[in-house]
Amino acid sequence: MTNHIENKTIIEYRPPKAEMNPWRPHCFLNEPERQRDGTVKSVNTIFLTNRECPFKCVMCDLWRHTLEKPTPKGAIPAQIKYALDRLPNAPVVKLYNSGNFFDGKAIPRDDYRKIAQLLSEVEHVIVENHPKLIGPFIPEFRDLLSATFEIAIGLETIHPVAMPRLNKQITRENFSEAVRFLTSHNISSRAFILLNPPFLKGVVENRDWCLKTVQFAFDSGVSSCSIIPTRDGNGIMEKLREEGDYEPPSISSLEDVFEEALSLNRGRIFCDVWDLHRFSECEQCITERKERLQNMNLSQEISPKVQCICN
Ligand code: SF4
Ligand SMILES: [Zn+2]
Repeated sequence: MTNHIENKTIIEYRPPKAEMNPWRPHCFLNEPERQRDGTVKSVNTIFLTNRECPFKCVMCDLWRHTLEKPTPKGAIPAQIKYALDRLPNAPVVKLYNSGNFFDGKAIPRDDYRKIAQLLSEVEHVIVENHPKLIGPFIPEFRDLLSATFEIAIGLETIHPVAMPRLNKQITRENFSEAVRFLTSHNISSRAFILLNPPFLKGVVENRDWCLKTVQFAFDSGVSSCSIIPTRDGNGIMEKLREEGDYEPPSISSLEDVFEEALSLNRGRIFCDVWDLHRFSECEQCITERKERLQNMNLSQEISPKVQCICN
């Protein structure tokens, strides 16, 4: 596919959507995460069920567990309560909604106060949001929280050709402006960055642009970057793979880029290890490799490589 891929085409290729209950979170989990001050804290992540994101990024599969219609009022607080009642106490909570927290049709603004009340015991709250959905509602929500506040933003890649073709509808400037706005309101930010986004070719180009994107995110003022290996599974990505416009990263290229990003010493780097076996062809070392990456996420130091016959 040589031209811009339209929303209509992206939707046409999709496999069916899951049936979701608006009153239950899609999923929730507890895990440790390294904090800005160097401590490791327990983090509860709640994957909220809500109205699908209006953007249609080429690589996105988050729509699979979303609703077609606006989220009913009261459903998000009910989901948060449901999850927190079943999770251990944790000082940090991530509310990830497969889209944008400040999209009023996804997270009704009338629910902000109730959400903040449910998080009154928490020290730090993180949500995700698109860089163009910036406005006074953000500091208004922050003022309701007793916790410090952080927003995770998908920057994905700053590659001049791939960035517009991802259909995320952002520019580098949109990202920097969003981070500046948040910083000016005492809100910290982190960036999601793709390794092997569609439209880049080869190990070297993919590594270089991932690292350039990490540098750009830190230059813009984020406090951490999460490197995410790009996955297929949403229909259009399989098509792009067939046509040579997407190649999945190998686990060793993910390890290398994570090490190089840590060596930059710009701030915390996290490596997404979800579904990692998809990027490995060796059953023998995958568990050990995953554990190494998880340990490096916590220590922010490079551990010795896993030795295996496949290396
Ligand atoms: S903005 Fe985020 S949730 Fe929305 S389509 Fe793009 S990647 Fe998916
Ligand atoms: Zn191996």
